[in-house]
Amino acid sequence: MHTERPAPVASPIPEMHVLWITAGLSCDGDTISITAATQPSLEDLVLGGIPGIPKVHFLNPVLAYENGDEFMRFMHLAAADELGPFLLVIEGSIPNENNKPEGYWAALGRGEDGQPVTTCHWIDRLAPHAWAVVTAGTCSAYGGIHAMAGNSTGCMGLPDYLGWDWRSKAGIPIVCVPGCPVHPDNFMEVLLYLLRMAAGTAPMIPLDEMLRPTWLFGATVHEGCDRAGYYEQADFTQEYGSPKCIVKLGCWGPVVQCNVGKRGWMNGIGGCPNVGGVCIGCTMPGFPDKFMPFMNEPPGAKLSTNAVSMYGRTVRALRRFTRDSLNREPERS
Ligand code: SF4
Ligand code: SF4
Repeated sequence: MHTERPAPVASPIPEMHVLWITAGLSCDGDTISITAATQPSLEDLVLGGIPGIPKVHFLNPVLAYENGDEFMRFMHLAAADELGPFLLVIEGSIPNENNKPEGYWAALGRGEDGQPVTTCHWIDRLAPHAWAVVTAGTCSAYGGIHAMAGNSTGCMGLPDYLGWDWRSKAGIPIVCVPGCPVHPDNFMEVLLYLLRMAAGTAPMIPLDEMLRPTWLFGATVHEGCDRAGYYEQADFTQEYGSPKCIVKLGCWGPVVQCNVGKRGWMNGIGGCPNVGGVCIGCTMPGFPDKFMPFMNEPPGAKLSTNAVSMYGRTVRALRRFTRDSLNREPERS
């Protein structure tokens, strides 16, 4: 676990660019996801609604006002270390551009020779100058769907590309915020944390061994799930539309590190198992290969649900008995 305290920030950073590359192998779903954030919202951040953090210039090609060459100008300035402090956000997995005789897998803009500039080349030029580097979503953290077995791109997550011990010029490890897509508030909260670090008011971001913020990814889905009481009483459903535990329908929640069951999805509402969707482990480095086929009872779940069944059914029966008793008023003389 990376728990070291930061060197004191000599002077708080007054302005920070957030330079976001969506040109990894991705669906841009993480960019879309953060538009739903409320804690804080994107608007809070870019309109200066949060005191005590640097002024934010948000440069995401899907959301920016600047287009084409105007947008690319910021990329070139950052690559030349002339943009000032910037947070580099990477969305999408990083392809292996050395596994084929010609062509490219992912690129953004064109170089002076008129040829596409590969995403890898941008990362090579930008990462050394970044104040911190953050991955948005599982693809850029661990490879995700694009990196599944049999793909031809040889793609990977950013820690595999830059190295797991990589540090930014401010001494910060790569910060991974997985999810497919990334949870809107998880991502924005991490961004806010880093901005507080830049302001000199927060200690080093605590990360686990997979570079995830510990306060967001320390617990399992199961530990925060609305349906966990049903699991404990071995009340499993085999049908959709039931409020009971959906482990038999393929939920991996008991072993998946994700706070979505607890946090909900948008403004506290939803969250996969809470609304009947089995957890398919989309935040995990082993996703998707280790969780397939989806919608089948996870192999390990058979053992644990069998083990909990005898206890759970007994407890459920005893509780029903106690509840019936508590539902009657005490006898009064
Ligand atoms: S639905 Fe999934 S996460 Fe929720 S209690 Fe059942 S197994 Fe656990
Ligand atoms: S609950 Fe499971 S499927 Fe849903 S976001 Fe979390 S890890 Fe992904």
